[in-house]
Amino acid sequence: NRVLVTGGAGFIGSHLVDYLLGRGFQVRVVDNLSSGRLEHVSHHFGSELFEFVKGDLKNPEVALKAVEDVDTVFHLAANPEVRLSVTEPAVHFNENLLATFNLLEACRRKGGVELFVFASSSTVYGDASVLPTPETHEIKPISVYGASKAGCEALLSSYSHLYGFKGVSLRYANIVGPRLRHGVIYDFIMKLSRNPGELEILGDGSQRKSYLHVSDAVEATVTVAEKSSSTYDCFNVGNEDWVTVAEIADIVSRAMGVKPLYRFLSTVKDGRGWPGDVKLMLLSIEKIKKLGWAPRLSSREAVEETARALVRELGL
Ligand code: NAD
Repeated sequence: NRVLVTGGAGFIGSHLVDYLLGRGFQVRVVDNLSSGRLEHVSHHFGSELFEFVKGDLKNPEVALKAVEDVDTVFHLAANPEVRLSVTEPAVHFNENLLATFNLLEACRRKGGVELFVFASSSTVYGDASVLPTPETHEIKPISVYGASKAGCEALLSSYSHLYGFKGVSLRYANIVGPRLRHGVIYDFIMKLSRNPGELEILGDGSQRKSYLHVSDAVEATVTVAEKSSSTYDCFNVGNEDWVTVAEIADIVSRAMGVKPLYRFLSTVKDGRGWPGDVKLMLLSIEKIKKLGWAPRLSSREAVEETARALVRELGL
C-alpha cells in the first residue's frame, strides 16, 4: 500500500504525512518546494516507509513517476495564495489546473491508482447565497484560484467516471495550525513582528469566515478517504462557527502580547480584503458528519491555538 502525497512538504500535506506514517503507510511525497519546506518532513528522513521526491507536477514526466506503484493519491500540491490570482491568473492555471491534469493523466496512463483525493476549497462557491453552504449549492467562483479548484474538481469527476478509480474532492474552509506560512494569521504575525505599534488590516475587518485546525482537517481527509463509497463525490470540510478578521487581529495581538492601532485598508467593494475575496464563508458540514467525523476545535479555538503555535515556532 503506497500512498502519494503531492505537496507533502507544505502545511496541510506535511501534517497528513505525519499522520499516515504514524499509521504505518508507505508514503511518497512529491513536492517542488515552491512554498513547502524540507524541514516540515525532514524528521522522516531515514524511515523505510518514507520517500521524498523533489519534482514539479507541471512536468508530465514527474507526474508519471509520482504515481508509480501507488494505490492512493492525496493531491495537495497547488499555489494556495488566493490573492495572487488577481494579478497573476496564469499561476493558478498552471500550478493548479495544469499540474492536476498531468497527475490525472499519469493515473490514467499508469493504471493501479484506486483512489484520488483532491484538496479543493470553499472558494469554488464564490459569494454563496446560502449559509451554511451545502455541497449542492451552485459553483460560481469569484477568484481565478476558486475557478482553478472548480476546474480540477470537474476533471477529477470525469476521470474517475471514465478510468476506473474513485475520486473525491474536499472543499476545505480556512485550515490553520502549526507550520502555516500563508493567510491572515501568518500575515498579521509578520506585520506585528515588524511593527508592534500598528496593524494594517486588509478590508474593513468584518469579513467573517470559518477556520479549521489542521489536525481536524487531516482526520476529515482520512475519514473521507476510508469511507466515501461513490465513484466520485465531494465534501465540505469546515467548522460550525466563524470569526471575523477584526477578531483574528485581537487574537493575534494577544498571542504576541502587543496592543497595536488598527489601520483598515478598505479599498475594495463591501469591505473585502482584495478583489475576489469572499466576504462571508461558512460551510455546511452535515454531509461529512454522516461519515462519523466532527471538528474537535471551534474556529475561535483553532485560530487561538494557531496564533500561539506560530509565535512559538517563529521564535517571536
Ligand atoms: P502549501 O503552500 O503549504 O502547500 C502546497 C505544497 O505544494 C507546497 O509544499 C508546494 O511546494 C507544493 N507545490 C506547489 N506547486 C507544486 C508543483 N507544481 N509541483 C509540486 N509541488 C508543488 O499550502 P497548504 O495550505 O498546505 O495547501 C494544501 C492544499 O490545500 C492546496 O491545494 C490548497 O489550495 C488547498 N487548500 C488549502 C487551504 C488552507 O486554508 N490552507 C484551504 C483550502 C484549500
